[in-house]
Amino acid sequence: MDATGKKTAAEVHRAIHHEVDSLLQRIFAERRRTGGQDLEAVEMAFRAAMHQAGATGLTHLLTEEPPAQRHLPCACGGAADYEELRSKQVLTAVGPARMLRAYYLCSSCHEGQFPTDQALDVEKTEFSPGVRRMLGVVGSECSSFRLGAEQMLLLAGLEVTAKAVERVAEAIGADIAAREQAEVRKAMQLELPAAAGPSISNLYVELDGTGVPVVPKETEGREGRQEGKPARTREAKMGLVFTQTTVDAEGYALRDEASTTYLGGIQTAGEFGRALYAEAYRRGWSRAIHKVVLADGQHYNWSIAQEYFPEATQIVDLCHAREHVWELGAKLYPSDKAAKVVWIKAHQHWLDEGQIEDLVASFLCGRLVPSGPNWATTFRWKPTTSKAMPNGCVIRGSAAEGSL
Ligand SMILES: [Zn+2]
Repeated sequence: MDATGKKTAAEVHRAIHHEVDSLLQRIFAERRRTGGQDLEAVEMAFRAAMHQAGATGLTHLLTEEPPAQRHLPCACGGAADYEELRSKQVLTAVGPARMLRAYYLCSSCHEGQFPTDQALDVEKTEFSPGVRRMLGVVGSECSSFRLGAEQMLLLAGLEVTAKAVERVAEAIGADIAAREQAEVRKAMQLELPAAAGPSISNLYVELDGTGVPVVPKETEGREGRQEGKPARTREAKMGLVFTQTTVDAEGYALRDEASTTYLGGIQTAGEFGRALYAEAYRRGWSRAIHKVVLADGQHYNWSIAQEYFPEATQIVDLCHAREHVWELGAKLYPSDKAAKVVWIKAHQHWLDEGQIEDLVASFLCGRLVPSGPNWATTFRWKPTTSKAMPNGCVIRGSAAEGSL
């Protein structure tokens, strides 16, 4: 760019004049021919013309003269010497622009560098920061990268490939979610080769969630717990995948030490389910002989389990199952604390021993007379099952409880 900017300003003005003149000629010619005008065609043509003029302006702004500085420090400790001006195309918010910038080469390590690219945040990318932001949005919001590319064309007037949307979505390093989703997509399409390795005797997937308060903007359009009122929290979901090979002295299954991988996020059930599936798959879900989903017994979590891990044995973890027994005890004996504790101890024993059928039967056969109202409707029991678990049907404590 020239030092005063006068030449650049003149070039940009000329570009705008040129674009607008030729556009207006086309518009008036069309009007004479048809006697009317198509507003959508005209507005889009104006946008394209303004983009073209803007891109011309950017190209001028991004054209450097040979630099005064002939040497730069190199990361290796040596010095990089100015070599030449090199050109590259960058897609900007107003379309493709061309950069011409100084290239330096280190004589010691032969590493090249473009200081301008670093300064403008376009290092090793053909997309400007503005365009990368757009690609990040469509890449994470759209159901497919192809759709993302279509939206870029419609909304921003920019032509990009689905691959470009995917690459940029993935490259937004801080945005781990974007990368996760891409992996998830592959896993869901079973494109991941089943990670080779020996079979796994017991592989567990555990999931839980909790409401976290958020600012109103985060819950826009989401129905809250109270009908008609917007949600004030969003569900933070946590998941873990671990293996189990041994049992303790009492026969309870033990989580293998250092076998757990974790994931978490504020996501929809679908996003979270897919991410958890991808992680389980990565950990060898397809090679597991016994597949188990551990959760708290909430319908919500079981529906994720059902959708993504339908072949798994579903187990309510002991901590949460005990909570249900306590809840029921409190409803049965709302005003008799001693009776409540006696009842809970007796029934928790059955639960701890895995005598689930006995426990459920005792609820159903009328041996217990509830003294509180609506106990049957407020208590939702999800029976645990031990069909695939020769070593006991419950994990002592909740693995998640201690770690999350
Ligand atoms: Zn070097």
